[in-house]
Amino acid sequence: MGKRIFLACPTMHGEEQRFIKEAFDTNWVAPLGPNVTAFEEEMCAYTDCGHATALSAGTAALHLAMRCLGIGQDDVVFSTDLTFAATCNPVTYEKAKLVFIDSERDTWNMDPEALKKAYEKYPNPKAVIVAHLYGTVAKMDEILAICKEHGTPVIEDAAEALSSTYKGKQAGSFGDIGIYSFNGNKIITTSGGGMMVSANEEYTKKALFLATQARDQAPYYQHSEIGFNYRMSNVVAGIGRGQLLHLDEHKALKVAIYKQYEKAFADIPEVKMNPLNPDGEDNCWLSCMTIADSSAVTPTMIMDTLAAENIETRPIWKPMHLQPVFAENDFFTAKGEQKNMAPVKGDNGDTWDESVGGDIFRHGLCLPSDIKNTPEDMELIIGLIRKCFGR
Ligand SMILES: *Cc1c(COP(=O)(O)O)cnc(C)c1O
Repeated sequence: MGKRIFLACPTMHGEEQRFIKEAFDTNWVAPLGPNVTAFEEEMCAYTDCGHATALSAGTAALHLAMRCLGIGQDDVVFSTDLTFAATCNPVTYEKAKLVFIDSERDTWNMDPEALKKAYEKYPNPKAVIVAHLYGTVAKMDEILAICKEHGTPVIEDAAEALSSTYKGKQAGSFGDIGIYSFNGNKIITTSGGGMMVSANEEYTKKALFLATQARDQAPYYQHSEIGFNYRMSNVVAGIGRGQLLHLDEHKALKVAIYKQYEKAFADIPEVKMNPLNPDGEDNCWLSCMTIADSSAVTPTMIMDTLAAENIETRPIWKPMHLQPVFAENDFFTAKGEQKNMAPVKGDNGDTWDESVGGDIFRHGLCLPSDIKNTPEDMELIIGLIRKCFGR
């Protein structure tokens, strides 16, 4: 069997070690220190987000966003449906009520029409969480206009979309609060980590306070609120500073991978690549494809074919409304509230439904998008996939 070809894994450049060495040399091996502050400043400069708090994970950033917006028991929060569970899990940490919004086909992200339908039943949600799937930015103009009309704060889950832009602005800078992730498979990584950003310094200050155990200003350990241990360490931030220097380069390589797949499958009418937002420059974090029903080839067949050659792929995120743990939660599509949608049998034996998210999930897969993949690796992957379609 050939060498392992990855979906997306860390790409280090050596500069990370310079910042880590500095941390060791100055004994700043602590959840505090010059790298943390510098990483926050450098991220603010890159994203133009105003203020930032470096944290232990993107999920921690989302959790603190809940606290900053005062989301609590029985509050309603609207969330993107077709996403990773981390987008919405923090809502449940605070015992608020999750309502899922279907995707649209143009970007695979939250459908503004479905969002409007959700407002008809729930006019006063406490927040709307919008994720940018696979680095493609959602239709932010439409979504922000609807949320503004209702006075709802927006949390932007840009975990997958760092460096993507929309109408000249960085993903993560549109919401009242934005979050990024530096998990191992993201476009840049710190091994694990995250950041909460906002134009409103009150939020990032509050996040810092809560992330460091919510200590009151007192000469002893006094607490008026429950806090967390969510701060990023100075060593981890050093990796982030080194990685940030290469973010644009990573983006260019990701975009090139997408373009290569797009070109390679252009003559197969049953195959479509995941959409990019024409109003910006997406980072193409993961390249994905969907296969039309008219083809005898299924996503599972492609995944099995590549797995046999030691090549990693991944299914599309399974929509939240189809998750057993969220079986009781409300779900809205562009047609309105959905209960017991017509089930559709997927090729792996499970059943989905006719929502847009369910449809993308049933027909799609994520392709190897690691920036260290060589031209030979790409040729091998593309050749194997084309062969499945008899090309
Ligand atoms: C990775 C990811 C997260 C969570 O980030 P962590 O740093 O792993 O906690 C949240 N949302 C989305 C969409 C993600 O892909």
